[in-house]
Amino acid sequence: MDVPTFLDLADAQKRLIEEVTATSAIIDVPLEAALGCVVASDVAAPIDIPHFDNSAMDGYALLHDDPALATERPQLAVIGESFAGHPYSGIVSPGQCVRIFTGARIPEGASAVVMQEDTTLLGDRQVRFDARPSAQHHIRHRGSDVRLGQRLFARGIRLTPAHLGLVASAGITSVSCYEHPRIGLFTNGDEIVMPGKPLGPGDIYDSNHHFLAAALRALPIEVVDLGHVRDDVRALENAIQTGLRDCDAILSSGGVSVGEADLVGDVLARLGEVAFWKVAMKPGKPLLFGHLGNTPFFGLPGNPVSTVVTFLQLVRPAFEKMCGLNPTSPWSIKATLRSAIDKSPGRLDFQRGIMSFDQDGSVTVESTGDQSSAILSSVVQANCLIVLPREQGNLLEGAGVRVQPYAQFGL
Ligand code: AMP
Ligand code: MG
Repeated sequence: MDVPTFLDLADAQKRLIEEVTATSAIIDVPLEAALGCVVASDVAAPIDIPHFDNSAMDGYALLHDDPALATERPQLAVIGESFAGHPYSGIVSPGQCVRIFTGARIPEGASAVVMQEDTTLLGDRQVRFDARPSAQHHIRHRGSDVRLGQRLFARGIRLTPAHLGLVASAGITSVSCYEHPRIGLFTNGDEIVMPGKPLGPGDIYDSNHHFLAAALRALPIEVVDLGHVRDDVRALENAIQTGLRDCDAILSSGGVSVGEADLVGDVLARLGEVAFWKVAMKPGKPLLFGHLGNTPFFGLPGNPVSTVVTFLQLVRPAFEKMCGLNPTSPWSIKATLRSAIDKSPGRLDFQRGIMSFDQDGSVTVESTGDQSSAILSSVVQANCLIVLPREQGNLLEGAGVRVQPYAQFGL
């Protein structure tokens, strides 16, 4: 294939983000179904929150400047009660107070609340006040959380439980969101068998399908299962044609290397066009990217760790953009190596690492050991990826490195 090859990871990341388009289909999603959806237009509050002045304490609502409070042992008459949901409808005048509870409406006339702990109930509806309130003390004002018309959040954010709580507090029942892009997924290889089926000699179970399907579902993406495809040109063409009818992008694993059974690149070149092949990274070098008409195609290498790393570094940011999110390249923090690491210059290396926080908050990290791209257990053992720059050689214990914590990936 005569295409750009051995790209720098950063260039490949940038290109993938440039070459996919953000979804534009918008639907109104009820709050019950909106968790994880991407907001398609800014959401403004249709009411003040809170909607009325209310008490922050259990206590008594009164006039902060009531002359009766200026006396030696100030006492006021309790003229009624304001419960949350059951406001007091009268007016508070000098010499009077209203028993009030947290969240209850402040009665007309009152300008402060004295908390219960600073009072003594004297019987026959008289209360003594041991503290003098300042104006508006313990009153939560109308609109003090959010004002009518104020933006609750901007388009392009992904709805979390906290966002849903906030929109609900404004009385909103549904949010305008981007429709989930549909991503077609297939795995490729004659030796690959779905878990649940018996293994023939030379067969292995399909781990990449389950990893990728789950990793896609962790995004606002609808997975279209294109199944498992044999190392056969017709079978690959069929899977891709099916995906083209129904999907916004196609993602595959396996069959992108240089072996005789690696047919995905040739099929892509025949049905569409290859944009680039191979990235200067380890694991994951044979990553393939191209287009079939307007549909982007991502061919990941089959080695399970290569699949994981290329998905996280390259595919995920591009899919974030397709979902309407602002694409984010993985972030990293500084760490010190607890033991030496072997690395040969030439490719940017992602080693599986175990990081820990010391008492003083500093971070140290060590490799999980064998870094073969077939050792999927290393991905589970690790809690971060150690990022070693392209031209970096061996590193000694104590050397400074950067690590990408798993927390950002949901691994
Ligand atoms: P390939 O990219 O097709 O050359 O495959 C590279 C290695 O990854 C081979 O050892 C394959 O058996 C293995 N492999 C390919 N696809 C999968 C898969 N879906 N699940 C687990 N291992 C795979
Ligand atoms: Mg193969």
